Amino acid sequence: MSASTIDTTTYDRLYIGGDWVAPAGRGSITPINASTEEPLPAVPEGVEADVDAAVGAARRAFDAPSGWRTWEPARRAEVLERFAAELEARADRMIGLVSAQNGMPVSVAAQLEGSYPATLLRYYAGLLRAPSAPDLRDGLFGGVVEVRREPIGIVAAIVPWNFPQTLAMFKIAPALAAGCSIVVKPSPETVLDAFLLAEAADAAGLPAGLLNVVPAGREVGAYLVAHPGVDKVAFTGSTEAGRAIGETCGRLLRPVTLELGGKSAAIVLDDADLDLGAIGEGLFVATLLNNGQTCFLGTRVLAPRSRYQEVVDAFTAFAGSLTVGDAADPATQVGPLATARQRERVEGFIAQGRADGGRITVGGGRPDRDRGWFVQPTVFADVDNEAAISRAEIFGPVLSVIGYDDVDDAVAIANASDYGLGGTVWTSDPDRGAAVARRVRTGTIGVNRYIPDPVAPFGGVKASGLGRELGPEGLAAYTELQTIYR
Ligand code: NAD
Repeated sequence: MSASTIDTTTYDRLYIGGDWVAPAGRGSITPINASTEEPLPAVPEGVEADVDAAVGAARRAFDAPSGWRTWEPARRAEVLERFAAELEARADRMIGLVSAQNGMPVSVAAQLEGSYPATLLRYYAGLLRAPSAPDLRDGLFGGVVEVRREPIGIVAAIVPWNFPQTLAMFKIAPALAAGCSIVVKPSPETVLDAFLLAEAADAAGLPAGLLNVVPAGREVGAYLVAHPGVDKVAFTGSTEAGRAIGETCGRLLRPVTLELGGKSAAIVLDDADLDLGAIGEGLFVATLLNNGQTCFLGTRVLAPRSRYQEVVDAFTAFAGSLTVGDAADPATQVGPLATARQRERVEGFIAQGRADGGRITVGGGRPDRDRGWFVQPTVFADVDNEAAISRAEIFGPVLSVIGYDDVDDAVAIANASDYGLGGTVWTSDPDRGAAVARRVRTGTIGVNRYIPDPVAPFGGVKASGLGRELGPEGLAAYTELQTIYR
């Protein structure tokens, strides 16, 4: 794929209530190509009245007497599978749009944004098709107790720009599978892909009002979160925004799922094979995926002191070997950061790391390119876990290599973080790796590999969030329990 294949379809209407409707406001959002800094087609910016319309349409779809929630699960599954197929038919356009807007290399976007959302829809369709029996329990006081799950209602989904399609589908697929309707508010940085998503849903024949898209900034997002017609909020993004949303939901006693920031540990055990030919791909996904703009990355590399220099050398060679370039070039492994603001933030952390005595072994600056918000993949040695760059979620291609004495020390350092979302253990003994993984206080962790798998819960502890997405647990999060004493 080349930059010239970026979809230039323009949109002047919003997808609300199963229709393309005139926006209530006059504003627009112009996403910028992160590699070239050129403007992409503008889309209408949603305002509060659009949120009202979207929530109203979602409510009507949910309350319809023979609506989606009342359908046989297999019938809902069929529509979800058609939705998956329509997304697959648009995969190339989707990959190009996401990559242009946020700088994700097309090689990465092809695996994630272009195919993971369809996989999720098919996975949840599969759960709907699985046979299920009523949950009837013998009551301790006589009678039978029936436990049922009802769809939770109208879902507000607020999604970030780093994996706009995949993270939206973490919410859309289980919400629809559960019988809910949903209003999605994409991030202003990545809006074009959200229109293509709506197009796919429409082509799949998703009933009107089940999926509504209102692209807007944080104020309209806050309005949606607090909207009286919303029954549940699902958010992915920064811990700061997550706290604000959590406060609102606390006050309203509104169920909320928060998938927030991370600063995970990649623990290299003393028996790890550091042959990059063998582990390079897995290491890339676990530590630098999407130009470092991924919430679960193990950006604190914990190295045994006995092999500290060897680990620094391996990561230096690894980061230095990555091809940095235009996100639209299939050979690119590391593209630009999503926004100028994001690069400023990352460069601020690099300067702070230097000032705190960190030693940069590779990168540290901008590559020789005159356009795009690029930062070279950067490795810091001689930093400890207290350094600012070891504490904060940098959200860029910056790794810190931190030494440890023994496995207890490694686990203690891994756990000495405000966050607890992802992480990895690197070892030639996977059982030993799993034993260490169990001691890390984190929602998810990998042994010699890491990829959020749709079959199992994904989410974090501490400042990384509340609740889980994916797996059957992620479906349950869009239901409310009802007990009937019979
Ligand atoms: P953000 O959290 O501010 O924005 C994410 C989404 O939430 C956007 O759609 C935004 O419009 C919306 N939003 C923000 N505040 C809101 C509020 N109070 N109510 C309702 N909606 C709200 O993230 P950002 O400003 O785009 O990025 C800042 C930092 O956040 C990054 O540098 C990175 O550290 C972190 N981040 C983390 C993730 C993640 O997946 N964990 C994703 C994106 C950004």
